[in-house]
Amino acid sequence: MKRLEELPEHATPSRDCPKCKGHGLLTQTLGFHAGVSLCDCIHPSPCPRCGGSGHILAIMEGVERVGRCKCQILPDRARLFNFAKLPARYADATLESYEARDEATRAAKDAAEQWVHDYAAGNTRRGLLLHGEVGRGKTHLLVGVARRLTLEHNKRVRFVEFTLLLSELMEGFERGDGRQTVLAPLRDVEILAIDEIGKGRCTEFELAVLDELITQRYNTAKVILATSNYAPGNATGEKTPNLALHGRTYAPSASGAARNADPSFYDRGLRVPTLVDRVGDRVYSRLLEMVGLVAVEGGDRRQLLHQQQNQQQSPPQTAPHEPPPSPAYAEPRPAEPRRGEAQLTALRVTLTSQMTPSILSSRDPKLVVQLERLLGELQDVEEGIRPERPIDELVRDVLHVAGRLGLPAANRKWGATKS
Ligand SMILES: [Zn+2]
Ligand SMILES: [Zn+2]
Repeated sequence: MKRLEELPEHATPSRDCPKCKGHGLLTQTLGFHAGVSLCDCIHPSPCPRCGGSGHILAIMEGVERVGRCKCQILPDRARLFNFAKLPARYADATLESYEARDEATRAAKDAAEQWVHDYAAGNTRRGLLLHGEVGRGKTHLLVGVARRLTLEHNKRVRFVEFTLLLSELMEGFERGDGRQTVLAPLRDVEILAIDEIGKGRCTEFELAVLDELITQRYNTAKVILATSNYAPGNATGEKTPNLALHGRTYAPSASGAARNADPSFYDRGLRVPTLVDRVGDRVYSRLLEMVGLVAVEGGDRRQLLHQQQNQQQSPPQTAPHEPPPSPAYAEPRPAEPRRGEAQLTALRVTLTSQMTPSILSSRDPKLVVQLERLLGELQDVEEGIRPERPIDELVRDVLHVAGRLGLPAANRKWGATKS
């Protein structure tokens, strides 16, 4: 038997590979999720060190041992990344590609990077809650953190959007699975990343389950990362969320624009609901013990992006008869698209849950990608981003593609379609 240092080198990616830039991994989308696969530049094949088995038998420090071959590092990372189920629309989002445009967003990015560093070094078990109004890039930061944790630090992360997390739990109960069976996958994963916590209207039952999940993670010192469009707020002593507030407040994603457009906002005693209003005191105070708060402030990134894109696509027209350029993405927008928001969320969540692995693998991938894009558009509308076309038309398209994919939800009537 050879000593470890006498074994041949393991297979590695080609440094000047144009496809993977020498990283050995290629980003792709797997249905609704982002994934990575191994680049075919990894050579020689099979790995000369382990012969492709992934294991080596060698003398290490004078003792005969079985070890894992270094050629397994990339496949292990790919598995962890794919396990995280990051959203496909953020497949390429990294901490590096997050563009901080001002002091506030730079501070948020720094805090996220610092946290990854501290967590990987074993210096903290406390997670993060990134909060701020819609369009500040919170999800991008959260995905960037998850990406780095999986690909650089071998951490097991599971990413889930809050409304999908609740529907996943409820479906488990409806199937008749026991409480612990339903909770286990979300309870046991080392790091649970919850996007848009507090979104939608949670029922008391859903909140009780959420409370249980968070408490169990708390008791076993498991980490939570989260984003929220709601400001943290102050615990009020109320046990259940104060949903009565919802009727006489602006929805948070419209809040900035709504407040600016309506000077009487504060005079009329309206206030913007906070996270504690949405998830209730119990869940909220537990959460505060588990996460550090990071405000992601600054201008609306997506609006700015649209603005830049629009400017690039249509150079300014100076002819006198031309109407002035549309201020669509430059002005605070009215809350008009929020009508029917709950139905839109329900539609999106239902369709997403019907995209089972067997459907994903048996249908035309082009349709799957098309639906995924349309659902991304829907999500923007839910978040108060003004759609580029009428909502009814968007919903019609969604249902049409869903119908071609054979998803049962396509045959149901959805309120927002007003058909
Ligand atoms: Zn390559
Ligand atoms: Zn090997």
